[in-house]
Amino acid sequence: VTSPEQTVQPDCLFCRIISGEIPSSPVYETESVYAFPDIRPVGPTHVLVVPKVHRRDAADLRREDGQLLADLFAAATEVAALSGLSERGYRLVLNVGDDAGNTVPHLHLHVIGGRQLAWPPG
Ligand code: 5GP
Ligand code: ZN
Repeated sequence: VTSPEQTVQPDCLFCRIISGEIPSSPVYETESVYAFPDIRPVGPTHVLVVPKVHRRDAADLRREDGQLLADLFAAATEVAALSGLSERGYRLVLNVGDDAGNTVPHLHLHVIGGRQLAWPPG
């Protein structure tokens, strides 16, 4: 179920990637989510998982988005398995706002792995 007012934003970079207007290499896809490699990977694996409907960021989610969130995390688990990360682990990141360095205003879950990751982030 999608909110008609926020289905696709023509000026949104990731909406344009999802629609295929901007080419990308699919890593995984379902009816509700799309996963593709980050253009500037910070690890051997760095995949972005995005909902096909437009949400600005995690703070833009509503209670009605429960299924969307479940789909997003299920896809991340699938991406991790497809990328061979299930056994050794990986990091899931949702950046919100300027202090977190959020640059693209379309919700995206980072799946990062393939090396030991530092904690806490810088
Ligand atoms: P944020 O900092 O907003 O959480 O993450 C945005 C991510 O999108 C960054 O890691 C950045 O490298 C990635 N990115 C920005 N533009 C593009 C693009 O055109 N294609 C792809 N595949 N990734 C992008
Ligand atoms: Zn969008």
